[in-house]
Amino acid sequence: AALAYAVVRVVGELRRLYAGQREAAAALARASKAKTDFLADASHELRTPLTVLRVNAEVGKQMDRDCEHGEILEEILQESDRMSRLVEDLLFLARSDSASLPMKAEVVSAEPFLAELAGRVQVLVRERGAEPHVEVLEGQERLRIDPGQIEQAVLILADNAAKYGTPGGTVSLSSFAGYGELCIEVADEGPGIPEEDLPHVFERFYRVDKARSRKQGGTGLGLPIAKTIVEAHGGRIEAESRAGEGTTMRICLPLVADLPSTPTGSHRQG
Ligand code: ADP
Repeated sequence: AALAYAVVRVVGELRRLYAGQREAAAALARASKAKTDFLADASHELRTPLTVLRVNAEVGKQMDRDCEHGEILEEILQESDRMSRLVEDLLFLARSDSASLPMKAEVVSAEPFLAELAGRVQVLVRERGAEPHVEVLEGQERLRIDPGQIEQAVLILADNAAKYGTPGGTVSLSSFAGYGELCIEVADEGPGIPEEDLPHVFERFYRVDKARSRKQGGTGLGLPIAKTIVEAHGGRIEAESRAGEGTTMRICLPLVADLPSTPTGSHRQG
């Protein structure tokens, strides 16, 4: 009887503990949602005053015929642009934290998708004053992706490669498939990322050289956004770099597996 009593007590305790844990987890989830909602609301509210600031600085510049305040107004314009980017980036991350990031996933053929992507990368890299070198996959592989989002992630890598690479240097885009995945690589010939910084570059607001990032208009949220997008697609993102030897960033995404076709030759389904 004593043993039965002890067992009942232990079971009771365990139940109470479990209920307490569930309650704590629910409270934590509520607090986390409140935090991301707040961040999303705050970012949204900041958009309007920033637009007003920008428009006023533009008008000021037009009225400043003798260019007496040119430098100051230009700085206001640049900083308000940087802050707008920061607000958009924060809004993106707040939405993805609260799982309300809209994703329009569709099955696409890798070859045309990569060809279009290569075109966008070339334009961006040239705009940034670097030389694009593009080599993309030819094949029948298919991906289930939101093409706009994956393009955004790859453009972040290409932008960084052009920004932090050697001025006028080459930025290469290449891709390859194997082991059930497709990898897209962006490489530069820049000064690279020191070994101690490499594990941290995907963290929010982590910058190897804060002054340089700021000068380039960076927000410190580019790589975290790329990582969020890639992981939401079930993929992974990696950085390889050695000081003085350039940087290679790689995005790998799962391929859509082909079902073996039946002897009757019915259509394949993904
Ligand atoms: P940022 O807005 O500062 O560019 P990111 O999150 O995109 O922010 O990148 C974080 C930091 O990683 C950058 O500030 C830079 O120091 C470093 N970094 C990213 N890409 C490269 C690269 N290709 N070569 C050297 N450093 C890089």
